[in-house]
Amino acid sequence: MSARKRLVLKIGSSSVTSDDGGPDRELLDRLAREVHDQMNEGWDVVVVSSGAVAAGWAAIGEGKARPVDPGLLQAVSSVGQHRLMSEWADAFASVDRTVGQVLLARLGEADRQQYLHAEQTFAHLFALGVVPIVNENDAVADDEIRFGDNDRLAALVAHLIRADRFVMLTDAAGLFTADPRLDADASLIQEVSEIDRSLELVAGGPGEGATGGMASKLAAARIATWSGVETVIADARNVGVLAAIEGGNASVGTTFHPRSSRLSAHKLWIAFALGSRGQISIDAGAIRALVSEGGSLLAVGVVGVDGDFTSGDAVEILGPDGELVAKGLSQLDASTSKNWTLTSGEQTGGVVIHRDDLVILAGSDV
Ligand code: GLU
Repeated sequence: MSARKRLVLKIGSSSVTSDDGGPDRELLDRLAREVHDQMNEGWDVVVVSSGAVAAGWAAIGEGKARPVDPGLLQAVSSVGQHRLMSEWADAFASVDRTVGQVLLARLGEADRQQYLHAEQTFAHLFALGVVPIVNENDAVADDEIRFGDNDRLAALVAHLIRADRFVMLTDAAGLFTADPRLDADASLIQEVSEIDRSLELVAGGPGEGATGGMASKLAAARIATWSGVETVIADARNVGVLAAIEGGNASVGTTFHPRSSRLSAHKLWIAFALGSRGQISIDAGAIRALVSEGGSLLAVGVVGVDGDFTSGDAVEILGPDGELVAKGLSQLDASTSKNWTLTSGEQTGGVVIHRDDLVILAGSDV
C-alpha cells in the first residue's frame, strides 16, 4: 500500500472559463504547476474539471447566450470536451506531466462493475504518474449539466479513491454567513464540523448571487465528509491555494471536517443518491435499537407508515416528533408494512429494514 496521499481537486466552469468563453489557459497553467508541486510532496491528484459545455459553446455558439436545453448542452459538451482536454494536456506538459481523460457516468451502486473499473483505472493512472482529468460523460448522462456542475461527481470520486482531501475551487472565497454582496457583516465560515439545516439556509439555492452554487457544494461536502474525506471550498483565483491548504492556513476557505467513520458505497448511495419514497415512524425503543445498538428496524417498533413505496425502495425513518432518524431500504412494500405494524397480527418480529441497508442520520439533518 502506497504511503502517498490522495487529493481530488474540482474546478468549476466559471473558474475554468475565461471572458471569451473558452478555457482560461493562464489559470490552467498555474493550477497544473500547483498540482505538480503537490505531487512532488507525496500526493496523487485527480483533477475534476468542468467547462466542456462552455468551451463547446465558445467554439460554435457564435456569441449567443448559452442554451438551456440539457439535450443540446450534452451535444455542445462533446464539442468542448476535447478542447478542454487539449488545454489541460498542454498546461500539464509545461511541467512535464501527462494527463489521462476519465469520463464517468452514474458512478453509483447501480453499476458495481463500472465503479470497480473506475477504481482500478485511477489506481493504474496514479502508479503511472499520470494526472487523471475527470468530467461527467455528458453525451450519456446529464446529471451534472442539470444540477451540480460536477460537484457531486467529484465528491463520489473522492469516496471512490478514498481521498484524504477534497478541494472544490470556485469563484467565491468559501461559504459565508450571508451573501457578502448584500450583507456588509457577512463573514467567511472557516470551519464546519457538522453540516446541518442552518448551514443549508446559509448556502441558499443554486445560482443565488455571491453564494451561487453553494447548495450543490454543500451537498457534495456532505457526501465527502460522510466518506471520511476532509473537504475545502476555496477561491480558484487564490495563488498558491493548494499549498496554503496543506500548510493549514485556516483563512484560505471553508474547511469541512470529515466524520470519523466512512460510510460504505452502499450506505452512501442509500443516504444521498436515492430519493425517499415514504416515511416510517418509529417509537423511542426502536430509536435506541437503531442508533445505540446498531440493530435492524423491526415491525414491533413501527408506529406509522406513509407513502407508496415498494420493497427495495428508500424510506425515511422518523422519530416521535417527526425528526429524521435514519434512511434505509424497506424490505416490505407500504401496504404490507402497514398491515404488519398497524394491525395486531404480526407485531412480534419481522425485519422491516435490515441494519445493512440502514444509515443513521440522527442529528445530521440530511
Ligand atoms: N459536465 C459539464 C461541463 O463540463 C458540467 C458543467 C456545465 O453544465 O456547464 O461542462
